[in-house]
Amino acid sequence: MKIGIDLGGHTLIAALVSDAARGAAPVIVRRISLDTPRGRGASDVIDAMTGAIANLAEGQEVSGAGVAMPGMIDADRRHARRMPNFPKEWDDLDVAGCLDSALNSRGLGIRARIENDANCYALGEGSSGAAIGIRDFIVLTMGTGIGCGIVSGGRLLVGSHGMAGEAGHLVVRGDVQCRCGGMGHAETLAAADGTSARARTAGLPEDFGELWGMMGRGGAGAAIDVIEVTLDAMARVIASVCHLLDPELVILGGGMSKAHGIGPAIRERAIPYLSRPFKNTLRLEISPLGNDAALYGAAGIALARGAQ
Ligand SMILES: [Zn+2]
Repeated sequence: MKIGIDLGGHTLIAALVSDAARGAAPVIVRRISLDTPRGRGASDVIDAMTGAIANLAEGQEVSGAGVAMPGMIDADRRHARRMPNFPKEWDDLDVAGCLDSALNSRGLGIRARIENDANCYALGEGSSGAAIGIRDFIVLTMGTGIGCGIVSGGRLLVGSHGMAGEAGHLVVRGDVQCRCGGMGHAETLAAADGTSARARTAGLPEDFGELWGMMGRGGAGAAIDVIEVTLDAMARVIASVCHLLDPELVILGGGMSKAHGIGPAIRERAIPYLSRPFKNTLRLEISPLGNDAALYGAAGIALARGAQ
């Protein structure tokens, strides 16, 4: 057994995940869902994660724990680098080391490892979701931001500083300032926050699901204008990553991917941006696992460490 944790700004989910057996994908055996401690301070969050791990590990043989982190992490896969929605004290914190010593002080010999949450999402789709057996695939998560995880040649793409695969920050169009410090990035147009901001300006509901529901109705011209910018930015991202990486499969995840029919709508808009050979190879699917993908991926990195 392994433990995977998905650390979000509002919710912290921990799951006990079975080991991959011959021909059988890992499955979630048990899960705990907690509110992320108010203020999101490092010691409170580390305590909450340690408690959840101890709870799940009781009476079980657990080989390790992995945490899906909402931010950039260091190349060593132990330190957080920058967590945009968490306090500054997380910057450069040895998260894996803090967890290891907290677990140790409870008498648990479980080692922890961390990975970016979108990367965990991709690893989870590879172990238990839409990409089982696929060596080249990309996951794009559409939510508050646009997350991305890339598996190329069967390996997670991490880059020289651990920061590869930030497709949400591809420069697509315009010069809107992105929260990351750059400008003109896909996330400013395609993510929930940017979409909500345009909806607000147009006097429309800010909730993406509600906005999407207006598309099919008559007189929804303003909603269509807002959503078209979102779809176009995602289409540009997908065309660009396909040209760069030639994936077998692109998986769309995150809350916004649940909007009925969004997959075909984005696909249709991506085709004109693709060069001719790529128009025929584009395979776009909606994540079958949803946010559980990050739990599977987080548990998967725990196994990798145990094997070292
Ligand atoms: Zn950005």
